[in-house]
Amino acid sequence: MDEIRIRGLDVFAHHGVFPEETRLGQHFIVNAVLYTDTRRAGLTDALEETTNYGEVCQEITRFLQDHTWKLLEAAAEHTAQHILQRFPLLSAVDLEIEKPQAPIGLPFDTVSVKIHRGWHRAYMALGSNLGDKRGYIQDALEGLRQNPQMRVGRCSTLISTAPYGGVEQDDFLNGAVELDTLLTPWELLDELHRLEQLAGRVRKIHWGPRTLDLDILLYDNEIIRSQDLTIPHPDMTNRAFVLEPMAEIAPDVLHPVLHRTMAELLDELRERESC
Ligand code: ADP
Ligand code: MG
Repeated sequence: MDEIRIRGLDVFAHHGVFPEETRLGQHFIVNAVLYTDTRRAGLTDALEETTNYGEVCQEITRFLQDHTWKLLEAAAEHTAQHILQRFPLLSAVDLEIEKPQAPIGLPFDTVSVKIHRGWHRAYMALGSNLGDKRGYIQDALEGLRQNPQMRVGRCSTLISTAPYGGVEQDDFLNGAVELDTLLTPWELLDELHRLEQLAGRVRKIHWGPRTLDLDILLYDNEIIRSQDLTIPHPDMTNRAFVLEPMAEIAPDVLHPVLHRTMAELLDELRERESC
């Protein structure tokens, strides 16, 4: 990925743990690496094809001056998030905030916090088989769209499928959606649980009826096997109601463990089922 680099942006602001720091203010030095594809700007020589580093510097300055945080960690976290939301062509940012006048009572050059933050591409399965199924799924998508840490991309057609797992219940409505998010996988899972609860979901029977089921299928190329989260979703390769929508919105995306595309996985599942 190409980089636009900013070094030594001097911002007078009021962050710190001590009351004098928030009252008097001091200098903060910001270094940033903006990760973005500069190819089109390079070929066309057009400013609108790139991220204007002057505007980024203005935005960082204004943002750090409009807020007061005790910790450099918080200043860096919020500023990185703000920049990523504000400038759509950025895929990630390294942000370092130095505090050369930090009141530690010892001679030193500088202290800084440096973080790397960026957008992550995730795919999620959507399902409902109780009440106003289409309405629950649409509300969930709307909930995702309202979150500034999410950018909802392609959404598949919603398909009607017979229930899975042997419990007697109504047909499901299923789909898949592409999402760019600033959240970690566990934060995303919490957000999905929150939306499920907003839809009035009660967890009673495993594989039983539910107003809304939101599962993380893929998150970048990450492979996670923890107690509360498995990515890629372990059952996705056995479920046509997941692979069909995925083959519609992301046919060429590779499963990071099986190294098969979504379209190939769907074909293979259909072959297995026809045997
Ligand atoms: P299911 O989706 O299998 O029908 P639930 O929606 O009740 O069942 O999910 C049960 C638990 O599965 C969740 O609380 C969550 O911790 C865990 N889980 C593990 N991996 C994932 C994933 N990739 N996406 C969503 N939930 C997951
Ligand atoms: Mg689930």
